[in-house]
Amino acid sequence: MPDVLIVGAGIIGAACADALAARGLNVTVVEQDVVGSGATAAGMGHLVAMDDSPAELALSAWSLELWRGFVREYPARHEYSQCGTIWVAADDEEMAAARIKAQTMAAHGLQCGLLDAQGLYEREPQLRPGLAGGLLVGGDGLVYPPKSARILMDRAAARGAKLVSGSVHRIDGGSDSGVSVVLADGTRMSAGRVVLAAGSRSAALLPELPVQAKKGHIAITDRYPGFIRHQLVELGYIKSAHAASGDSVAFNLQPRPTGQILIGSSRQFGTTDLAVESAMMARMLRHAAAFTPALANMNVLRCWTGLRAASPDGLPVIGQHPVRPGLWLATGHEGLGITTSLATAQLLAAQLTGESAAIPAQPYLPSRFEQMRSAHD
Ligand SMILES: Cc1cc2nc3c(=O)[nH]c(=O)nc-3n(C[C@H](O)[C@H](O)[C@H](O)COP(=O)(O)OP(=O)(O)OC[C@H]3O[C@@H](n4cnc5c(N)ncnc54)[C@H](O)[C@@H]3O)c2cc1C
Repeated sequence: MPDVLIVGAGIIGAACADALAARGLNVTVVEQDVVGSGATAAGMGHLVAMDDSPAELALSAWSLELWRGFVREYPARHEYSQCGTIWVAADDEEMAAARIKAQTMAAHGLQCGLLDAQGLYEREPQLRPGLAGGLLVGGDGLVYPPKSARILMDRAAARGAKLVSGSVHRIDGGSDSGVSVVLADGTRMSAGRVVLAAGSRSAALLPELPVQAKKGHIAITDRYPGFIRHQLVELGYIKSAHAASGDSVAFNLQPRPTGQILIGSSRQFGTTDLAVESAMMARMLRHAAAFTPALANMNVLRCWTGLRAASPDGLPVIGQHPVRPGLWLATGHEGLGITTSLATAQLLAAQLTGESAAIPAQPYLPSRFEQMRSAHD
């Protein structure tokens, strides 16, 4: 019987497997598809410091530090690039938001600098005229997420973790008498603890978990090396990204190390259908071309969608179930789970083994949700 059984080998499950195996625990991961599928395969892989709340900034900044250490050995295998992020301010109001963001980030020790319009166009001449400026955050970067998940899972395996193919149908127990999962073929697997890291599918296995799917569209172009040099995100993104309902698109452009341009992104609630919707895709592309007009003449090679797992307060759910102590959660990372995966794994592993961690666990605990506290086995 493993010490820990992890449901899901997306970037979160793989990172948790690696962190727990590094502490000498006997780990088994159950995955119904392939390592790094799910949202991990769909995401943009932008490693970005986000400051919508102090807890989000603490987790993302810590995780970025861990990423820089992790990719150092084999940056090419992760397709890593420390491209930095430019938060693009369209007008004076957004420039004021950039100033506040700069203060918050600088107070947290993050390397950043305000850009006036001239500074913005010197760095990114493809942006449309008339923008006010921006904020350059230098420590941000990007990876190719499914590869990073694979590297994490391989390292976990080298540390003794096992990967089992199967679809978890049910989680039973979670008290002192033990916890187990039942696979779709009826096989029961018991473990000292179970960690639920099934991304947007997590609530299907745990109905009291307040996590819902937020669909996102992405497109990738042919190779246009040097078209842009930084990840470009509109400051207006913050307004749409955190809406609790309704559909939205935001300008989010990424220079892949291949020379391709990754174009994001959209947000939709109330659907788990992964089909690409042409109306949503057209809206997203039009919006992107409004910021970088030359994009309209480029070839898009492929479009796809993915489901983010969104919690009501925008923070991930990391820690022990409040009334089922053998059951642990590492999910709800919404649009930031690639960035926050490594810190999530460290935070979970520290709690599970009774160590102290670099940041307090409290803001991310499942017990912050009333419906988790009042759940029954
Ligand atoms: C369009 C889009 C863009 C994004 N861009 C970024 C970005 O730029 N930067 C960033 O930091 N984050 C980004 N994200 C968010 C990020 O991709 C996710 O937060 C992260 O991948 C979540 O990882 P996960 O392991 O929790 O979930 P997933 O990657 O979904 O993995 C869950 C795994 O569990 C498996 N599974 C599910 N149910 C079961 C079951 N019953 N039994 C067995 N296995 C099961 C699945 O097959 C899957 O492999 C983006 C997401 C989307 C959709």
